[in-house]
Amino acid sequence: MKKYTLLLLIIFFGSLDAHESGIKGGYISRKHGEKTLPSLSYEKKQRPPYSWENDFTRRHFPITKEHFRCRGSGLNEERIEIEGEETVVIRDCLDGHRHTLPIHNDKEFIYPILIDILNHIQDQTGKKVVITSGHRCPDHNRYVDPSKENETSKHLIGAEVSFYVEGMEDQPLKVVDHILGYYPDSNFSRFEKKTNVSTLPWYNKEIFIKLFLENEGRNKDNSHSFPYLSIQVRFDKDSQELVSYTWKKAHRGFKKK
Ligand SMILES: [Zn+2]
Repeated sequence: MKKYTLLLLIIFFGSLDAHESGIKGGYISRKHGEKTLPSLSYEKKQRPPYSWENDFTRRHFPITKEHFRCRGSGLNEERIEIEGEETVVIRDCLDGHRHTLPIHNDKEFIYPILIDILNHIQDQTGKKVVITSGHRCPDHNRYVDPSKENETSKHLIGAEVSFYVEGMEDQPLKVVDHILGYYPDSNFSRFEKKTNVSTLPWYNKEIFIKLFLENEGRNKDNSHSFPYLSIQVRFDKDSQELVSYTWKKAHRGFKKK
């Protein structure tokens, strides 16, 4: 008889060692015909809020790397995914804890160009940039979008941000103009190959910009109804290196707080 295996993925945020060793979860399987699942003790907990989450004013403040912290929450519902003959339960991260941003040279790190451009937009428009997805730890990244392409997202390494501008929700092209205006001496090209957006992305040596329309790129981080922009870092001026995803940067570079 064909055997069906039920795979439960349990995120171990109680154990730093689990993260550092790259172990993502525990596995429980049952044979076909068994009626009940083993009960798992799992209590949902909210992580402590980040400082900027308590700001309910309409004012905008300078963007810092603090605004890029992972949006994961232990209060988010588990998601059930079918993978072949396996059922996988995917849980979000940050169950009652925080974790750091990616660690680079012993410090929490977001590529500075992202912070600079978002502040440039705020300075130029006088409006508030709302980051909807900054750093995503591996668990949150998978929770948001378990697709193969997303496994190497630059969100994992602090090199990508998704956002919209409050009060300019329906004018994303004007926001793009402000981004291009950040580079008065740089010509941008349009990326002609097929992507997951209908608007041709813009790119120069340093960054790659995508515009997601109302019906594009929706996920847990971007469940709002506005168009939004994402900026990926392609080249790091400081190190003079191309910026690319690596497993090590994504999985080893942050710590539980
Ligand atoms: Zn996370």
